[in-house]
Amino acid sequence: MQNYATVTGEGRSIASLMKSAQIRRAFQFIDELQVELDDELVRICEIPAPPFKEDARARFIGQRFHAVGLSLVRSDAEGNVIAERPGPSSRRSPGPRVVISAHLDTVFPEGTDVRVRRDGARFNAPGISDNVCGIVSLLTLARALEVGDIVTRGQVYFVATVGEEGEGNLRGVRHLFDKGEFRSGVDAFISLDGPGLERITHRALGSRRYRVTISGPGGHSWGDFGIVNPVHALGRAIARFSSYPAPLAPRTSYNVGIIEGGSSVNAIPASASMVVDLRSVSSDEIDKLEAHLRRVVEIAVREENSQRAMSGTSLTCEFEQTGDRPSGETPIGSPIVRAAIECSRALGIEPRLDCSSTDSNIPISLGIPAITLGVGGVSGNCHSLTEWYEPHGRELGIKRLLLLTASLTGLAG
Ligand SMILES: [Zn+2]
Repeated sequence: MQNYATVTGEGRSIASLMKSAQIRRAFQFIDELQVELDDELVRICEIPAPPFKEDARARFIGQRFHAVGLSLVRSDAEGNVIAERPGPSSRRSPGPRVVISAHLDTVFPEGTDVRVRRDGARFNAPGISDNVCGIVSLLTLARALEVGDIVTRGQVYFVATVGEEGEGNLRGVRHLFDKGEFRSGVDAFISLDGPGLERITHRALGSRRYRVTISGPGGHSWGDFGIVNPVHALGRAIARFSSYPAPLAPRTSYNVGIIEGGSSVNAIPASASMVVDLRSVSSDEIDKLEAHLRRVVEIAVREENSQRAMSGTSLTCEFEQTGDRPSGETPIGSPIVRAAIECSRALGIEPRLDCSSTDSNIPISLGIPAITLGVGGVSGNCHSLTEWYEPHGRELGIKRLLLLTASLTGLAG
């Protein structure tokens, strides 16, 4: 890995970057482009990208990467789309490797109506703000660098990742840093995710997800009455679990998001399951929460078994981990966070440092300098069918991104 702190050290200050003719030309281009970006927003949003079925949107983004002048467009084994903008041709002192990424998947299942309905400045559609607006900004960054004729000292990678949401469990970005292209590390990683300008996410909110399944023999509600019932046990487990006193600091949360089980009102179910989300900014708190979950399930199963002992039947239970996102932090004093703060302020944005669960969790947990940024605009009802996005302030978000990219990689010459 490059030590990019030294590279940016010889770079120019943000103020002088902003005065450079190339950056000014790129800024002007961004201002002129806004209507076209609305069209791009609609076009991408209307290509479905349900979890694990992101191919169609990925293919389109690959074509767009190509069309905006990026080179070596490819997709990797997991389905991520990657392209490059090389630094100057001399390889004698390669500059830093900077990754700008945005996740391309949505939370919405196959068959969801993703057509965009416009209502004045408002765009209504599932996934429009999370994260089609991020993808549009990623593409626009590439165009603006090109139009500004900006030659960076280092290599800039443009990546649209798959599997960020829900049960995707960060599979795209995990692959990149595990077996994929960035397994030997990069010098900086920026994830664009959602609207807003203030938020600079430098702390990774960790989470663990489990599917807990309780199983028994099942039977007739009248004829077999007296045998163990998995739904009854699951109900008791949830009642106990939901009284857990999660601390406010370090902030911790839990949620039973899905319950399933049974097939008929007059059948004793053979199984019942719940899908549980455990989150905390502290991995110790997640450990405690997980221990609590295991304890309450064990107690509930034991109670049902002892209450129905006469029947000679008993329940078993199984824990399946469906998600694991590591926590961690890119220090406030690190060059990437400092540069993000400076670039924001240079454009009149007062940033707010925060903690969230995003693609950056993976590089952050590996000690790679990483942050997640909003791309401007406002939105509401994310992850619901009534999700909406308004692009006010989007141009500022793209300018900040351009400035930050230039400052992290440095300009050649
Ligand atoms: Zn997102």
